[in-house]
Amino acid sequence: MLELKNIVKRYGTGGDVVTALDGVSLAFRENEFVSILGPSGCGKTTLLNIIGGLDQYTDGDLVINGRSTKNYTDRDFDTYRNHSIGFVFQSYNLIPHQSVLSNVELALTLSGVSRAERRRRAADALRRVGLGDQLKKKPNQMSGGQMQRVAIARALVNDPDILLADEPTGALDSETSVQIMDILREISKDKLVIMVTHNPELAAEYSTRIIKVLDGRVTDDSAPFNGEVEPLSKEKADAPKKHREKKTSMSFFTALALSFNNLMTKKARTFMTSFAGSIGIIGIALILSVSTGVNVYINQVQEDTLSSYPLTITAESDMVSMLANFMGRQAEEIERENEDGYVYSRNVMYDMMSSMSTKETNNLKDFKKFLDTSEEVAKYASLVKYGYASSMSVYAKDPSGKIISGDMNELMTDVYSDMGVESGAASSYSSAFTSMSSFTVWQEMLPGENGELISSAITDQYEVIRGDWPKSYDEAVLVVSANNELSDYVLYSLGLKPYEEMVDIMKAAMVGEELDLNEEEYERWSFEDMMGREYRLVHAADKFQHQADGTYVDLTATETGMSYLFTNDELSTPVKIVGIIRPAEDASAATLTGAIAYTSALTDHIID
Ligand code: ADP
Ligand code: MG
Repeated sequence: MLELKNIVKRYGTGGDVVTALDGVSLAFRENEFVSILGPSGCGKTTLLNIIGGLDQYTDGDLVINGRSTKNYTDRDFDTYRNHSIGFVFQSYNLIPHQSVLSNVELALTLSGVSRAERRRRAADALRRVGLGDQLKKKPNQMSGGQMQRVAIARALVNDPDILLADEPTGALDSETSVQIMDILREISKDKLVIMVTHNPELAAEYSTRIIKVLDGRVTDDSAPFNGEVEPLSKEKADAPKKHREKKTSMSFFTALALSFNNLMTKKARTFMTSFAGSIGIIGIALILSVSTGVNVYINQVQEDTLSSYPLTITAESDMVSMLANFMGRQAEEIERENEDGYVYSRNVMYDMMSSMSTKETNNLKDFKKFLDTSEEVAKYASLVKYGYASSMSVYAKDPSGKIISGDMNELMTDVYSDMGVESGAASSYSSAFTSMSSFTVWQEMLPGENGELISSAITDQYEVIRGDWPKSYDEAVLVVSANNELSDYVLYSLGLKPYEEMVDIMKAAMVGEELDLNEEEYERWSFEDMMGREYRLVHAADKFQHQADGTYVDLTATETGMSYLFTNDELSTPVKIVGIIRPAEDASAATLTGAIAYTSALTDHIID
């Protein structure tokens, strides 16, 4: 129940004070259709804004469900606005470049319901206003009446108790106005509808109560309500009371989350995550922490970002840090007193060469001990994971039966060799090729914190579209894009596309031959084809076979050796695809860059 007690609203201070409302006392029933009439400037909009918690009263009291709002915090008002009030404006206020469905869905973004549920509710609300068949349209392709109906759907999608409408038909012709009034009357059967209008005829015909306002005062009320609870009809008394005490986030956060959410969708998602990675987790946390109370959100972002860009400490310094080191030395001015009139030599060559040849080695043994025992680390790190440089020697059979390597670097070396490139050059070409972007095909998934095989940071981000998550070391999942795609190089390395074709394409590209790949555009494989596919993991030591003369032969070097390894259960371990996953629609980061994700249990198995 809603009650205004002697509400006064003044705008401005000092000499220029406008009294928009001058002692308004009104009580509203839980459901009725109230029209507010009055000349322009008499305070109607102000009244509506105060009822809706959009504006603060100067004096008096607004009583919501028996509770005075005098001591309401911003947060209380946010909760009230977000869960109890729906607004409809004369000017619709829709987002022009977003579909009707998205416009309505947006109102639910902060409600904590899943994307699918938001969709469903938004579509329901649009159906209620007769727009069930126009979900995909943009507002600028609609008439004014249709746009106003979208706005009503948006106001209703949160299922508020009170619908406030400020001249909803002000910009509409009389025929369309009648349609809107019909909808509002329907809504008023189980909600309180308060409408400001300039049209006394419509008010008289549709509403159950007319309040006239003049110069900030109520001059007439056709059905006053004294605020006492009227006897409920049987039907209503039986209906369960809706629970409305849910807390909402702050308004600053609301804006932030909305814009974030928009950015995070589809294509921008990858960009945002890399951006987040580049300005650093601390940066994001700082930006977000200007507002208090968003800790949960920060944690979420940190977790998402960290799972994509973990802080990694390697045993030996890598190329990147060497380069950084070198660039630093280049830029450094050597501090010495140089005499004018001479040109001096700055010695860079040696530094450069030495920085490239001497590797910095971290004392990982002690560092691990520190990580394991430090209370600080336990307090602040969300997950510490140790990786072991076990190379994944996985092999697959291509459609022609040829056994190929699942490791891109190895596979590319083979391709270059088959193109006639000398073997030393082939391997350096292929490392150059694979280091250009992340050509990881087989990727380990982070294990969970409490001994789970897979971290919830991953299971939360992905949805299983076929099969299930791996349950043991010899099971893996295929990771496809949101659009069910895999890059072609992945398809080659998984043996789904023929190896020979890859060699042909590379050859053609090398000599600059034009290739028409369009016919391949729609090449596809059924989920069934993918599921149960078996790959073979060969342990490094088993690749070499002891010969009678005391030497060792690399079995992977020949096709017969390869096929011996591939079929021998003693020498290779089968790894099966037991599921297909893809980034969940509302995941803010997609951690896995590979195409096949396996569990740390497989790594442990290799180490054993
Ligand atoms: P109505 O909706 O009935 O046309 P309003 O509620 O918008 O009237 O305005 C009532 C009075 O309050 C008007 O005199 C208007 O100029 C004044 N007013 C409204 N909003 C503000 C504001 N933000 N600052 C100063 N004066 C305002
Ligand atoms: Mg107005």
